[in-house]
Amino acid sequence: MAGLVDGKVALVTGAGSGIGRASAEAFAREGARVAVSDIDVEGGLETVRLIGDAGGEAHFIAADVTREDQVSGMIAACLERFGGLDCAHNNAGISGAAGTIPSIDLEGFERTLRVNLTGVFLCLKFEIPAMIEGGGGAIVNTASGAGLIATPLMSPYAASKHGILGLTKTAAVENARTGVRVNAVLPGSIETPMLEASFALGPEVEKMIRANQPGGRFGRPEEVAEAVVWLCSDRASFVSGESMLVDGGAVAR
Ligand code: NAP
Repeated sequence: MAGLVDGKVALVTGAGSGIGRASAEAFAREGARVAVSDIDVEGGLETVRLIGDAGGEAHFIAADVTREDQVSGMIAACLERFGGLDCAHNNAGISGAAGTIPSIDLEGFERTLRVNLTGVFLCLKFEIPAMIEGGGGAIVNTASGAGLIATPLMSPYAASKHGILGLTKTAAVENARTGVRVNAVLPGSIETPMLEASFALGPEVEKMIRANQPGGRFGRPEEVAEAVVWLCSDRASFVSGESMLVDGGAVAR
């Protein structure tokens, strides 16, 4: 059976861990050649190894999404290696500064916005022209349920994820006639190192997160990856500007 993204080139940021790794693996499984990017070299190389062991093709490109020169270099390296760019999953992110708003220092707030929001802006800035040059493409930005509702003790994160939805919708409309679709995926609580780290904020935070799961379980990175690959595939040819929750009903509740 043909893969969902057979013959396409896919780029995933934050692909050295968690959701990004699962997405890179899913793109490869569905027939794409994958540019695996992360600030974490060891994690990124491990993802490339996992894809290779499964019979796929992947190449690691180290990049910090907060650095314009590194993001532009990441796109150039992808074009050089694979000859084009069809799909991009802008996924790198951090949980960032935590605490009540008065307790968060400006540096922590700005750092969170810089990785999560400016990082997505920079990726879009260089991906869109590359895709237009190649005749079109599809982009998925990782936002979060925190992009739709309040997230107590994580205001910088919530602000950054709300901002991603604004960028996504605007990029979708700006590109309605260029052949580039832009969507967002909004994971709920997914079993990754980031979720583990948020438990470290305190037992009351872990209790609140666990109580927020209507199905009594967390999501798996692969469940988010399925949505990402579908959104990037030609099956989603009329889907743009969409925010797709993958949260087991947590926000709908
Ligand atoms: P993760 O396992 O921590 O993976 C994130 C990856 O991004 C890590 O490899 C990390 O490297 C990398 N990264 C961090 N800063 C970067 C930068 N400046 N440039 C390039 N790469 C960078 O987290 P995850 O849970 O898979 O999260 C992936 C995305 O999903 C994030 O945008 C997150 O906000 C979103 N999300 C996650 C959940 C969840 O429950 N897990 C829920 C909603 C949304 P280091 O490890 O070296 O920092």
